[in-house]
Amino acid sequence: MTATRRLIVKIGSALLVDDTTGAIRTDWMNGLAADIAKLKARGVNVVIVSSGAIAVGRRHLSLKTGALALESKQAAAATGQIRLAHAWQETLAAHSITVAQILLTPSDTEERRRHINARATIDTLLEMGAVPVINENDSVATDEIRYGDNDRLAARVAQMISADTLVLLSDVDGLYRMDPRQDPSAELIDEVAEITPDIEAMAGDAPAGYSSGGMVTKLDAAKIATAAGCAMVITDGKPADALTRLEAGARCTWFLPVAEPLTARKRWIVGSVDALGVITIDKGAVAALNAGKSLLPAGVTRVDGTFDRGDAIIVKTPEGRIVGRGLSAYSSTDARLIMGRKSRDIENILGYRGRDEMIHRNDLVTESSASGALEE
Ligand code: GLU
Repeated sequence: MTATRRLIVKIGSALLVDDTTGAIRTDWMNGLAADIAKLKARGVNVVIVSSGAIAVGRRHLSLKTGALALESKQAAAATGQIRLAHAWQETLAAHSITVAQILLTPSDTEERRRHINARATIDTLLEMGAVPVINENDSVATDEIRYGDNDRLAARVAQMISADTLVLLSDVDGLYRMDPRQDPSAELIDEVAEITPDIEAMAGDAPAGYSSGGMVTKLDAAKIATAAGCAMVITDGKPADALTRLEAGARCTWFLPVAEPLTARKRWIVGSVDALGVITIDKGAVAALNAGKSLLPAGVTRVDGTFDRGDAIIVKTPEGRIVGRGLSAYSSTDARLIMGRKSRDIENILGYRGRDEMIHRNDLVTESSASGALEE
């Protein structure tokens, strides 16, 4: 925490919104604002990822309790977001801090041009000393194109703006070996250097209530953030001075960043959700990829999907396991024609001389280098 220059604080709905009245907890917000003002005075750039739009809006619209239909959620978010943003603005204004609202959909973080644009906006705001308050653009996002939880949204933002620390203020104080609600003697893990299957097995299912993210989405967020060189910490957000307590050594779980973060280009490849195709490769090519080499057409055994040159595709082993993700140097049509063939034959087959590689190593991220962050 003390070395952090760029900090993202993600706040869950359960902390911000009183679940019986639907009112925003302004006292709690005031405490957090004081902590943020202290950090800013030390020169730390702070970004807030705030949930709560749906929780605030549903009460205001007197919607029923329990799960809401998508259109009700979207209406609730539209009503709640304006109140949420207003509350942040008022609270931080007391410390002469300017707030800027940014609402994102997955395509804003995944599509390269929009990603670069969103990053530039956030960078500019930070340079100007403002605190961006980010949420998902819930009222226009549809189920298929939603993050649905702000844990992963916050991790994508961390990756996008090269933050060095992501704090998840939560209603739990960290990752436990067992679910602490079921087993009060469960042991808290202080530090996770690598998200192994053992660690993943410790995350239960999402609890019922306001928040969409349980421990599973928090681990997903940890994978994304740590692969981008950003440390992530889960701590109890209930005390209003949670950030000060964290610096003073409060109970928490730290997820350590990988030693060699991927380049910005590779981070973007890891983050692109829209893989348009899948390429299956043979064992020799799997070994070459894991040794850091490019993927040649000779090692490709199957091409699925429809994609163009430059599109993101997934690379799978003969057993169907994801081994990498990269930008294809060929369209799916051409890839099918040259798969299994030597690079020197490409010109004869296609009638033009393209690249020797199906995916060049600079455009390729392997599962091992991404610390398990690749998804379909
Ligand atoms: N974006 C949602 C909201 O503001 C919250 C998502 C979440 O719970 O993580 O209401």
